[in-house]
Amino acid sequence: MSAPERPAGWAGTPVTGAELTQRYQSSVMNTFGTPARVLARGEGSTVWDVDGNRYLDLLGGIAVNSLGHAHPAIVEAVTNQLQTLGHVSNFFISEPQVRLAEKLLSLVGHDGRVFFANSGAEANEAAFKASRRTGRTRVVATEGSFHGRTMGALALTSKAQYREPFEPLPGDVTFVPYGDVAALEAAVDDTVAAFVVEPIQGEAGVIDAPEGYLAAAREITSRHGALLWVDEVQTGVGRTGDWFAHTASGIVPDLVTLAKGLGGGIPIGAMIALGDAATLLGPGNHGTTFGGNPVATAAALAVIDTIETEGLLAHATARGDQLAAGLERHPRVTAVTGRGLLRGVVLTEPRAADVQTAAYDAGLIVNAPTPDRLRLAPPLVLTEDEAAHAVATISALLDEVLA
Ligand SMILES: *Cc1c(COP(=O)(O)O)cnc(C)c1O
Repeated sequence: MSAPERPAGWAGTPVTGAELTQRYQSSVMNTFGTPARVLARGEGSTVWDVDGNRYLDLLGGIAVNSLGHAHPAIVEAVTNQLQTLGHVSNFFISEPQVRLAEKLLSLVGHDGRVFFANSGAEANEAAFKASRRTGRTRVVATEGSFHGRTMGALALTSKAQYREPFEPLPGDVTFVPYGDVAALEAAVDDTVAAFVVEPIQGEAGVIDAPEGYLAAAREITSRHGALLWVDEVQTGVGRTGDWFAHTASGIVPDLVTLAKGLGGGIPIGAMIALGDAATLLGPGNHGTTFGGNPVATAAALAVIDTIETEGLLAHATARGDQLAAGLERHPRVTAVTGRGLLRGVVLTEPRAADVQTAAYDAGLIVNAPTPDRLRLAPPLVLTEDEAAHAVATISALLDEVLA
């Protein structure tokens, strides 16, 4: 295993994972528990820890590193932009911001307006505020949802463990079972401002919506004059093999929120408002200092351009199908959920956390969002050989851990 490269001119004492972990524990806020590894470097779908161990990264920073690590297109776009104009505030226009807004609208395929933010939670905050401008305050969300950790986004997130310590949360939010059309029909009336839904629930463990669910949601919300707000923070920007996961259902939402994969690792979020929803927010209604800054928008343009020029939508579908076909065959796997390169691997036993730990030791990064599910969200540039290695290694781990 090759040692991680040090930056040019680096002359310090090599630091170990154990030492940095100890320093982390006394300096970084303990909101994540103590992470199991200290990473130093990445290239493509591979990362190295500070102790020189190598990992195939099947999580990609939680569906963020869409082009993998250190992709030259992002490095070049960010470097050039930073050398030209790094930040201007929203008192000024910059070309990358306008080009990205136009590009996102063209990918969605409808007229609208884009609000830029810096994260998924912030994209959802913008949408939450836009929904209030309908003159209604009720929002319907789904059980198992995850929309972020700020107070507004948390109000839409169903997990009791995340919500309860912070109640009362803003808003008038009703939760309905995910995928249940009758429950949605019963919950939505003419007092509802918006229905917010993930096309595939990511944090819940990659839960697919039943066929026809988004179409039914579109019909029900339209009938009651409510907004359909699709949270594509995890599923958007090529992750599922389409630009957006909702595209396959043929619907046109009112609001689409994006973040994670959009910047390929540079923080950026976006709220796309289509049709009449595009004018819900006006001057003075919302704002941000960093949102839409030239560097972040240049990075996102590079991500989108690379997905187009390298054919990564079709590639994500092919590699995702390869992972699913390989893993579905394992006797300890009851189903592989999701689409493209957002996949849930459902195990016969609630031992996903043990598999995750064993995977780290075997040089593979996977994630266990629930007791019986692994989540895979690798870079869209994952190669065929890497996908084959992933299937072989996960299969061997399942044999060993779930023996
Ligand atoms: C991750 C996620 C968020 C929150 O994004 P942050 O950038 O962590 O604020 C919101 N919605 C969905 C569907 C997500 O997966």
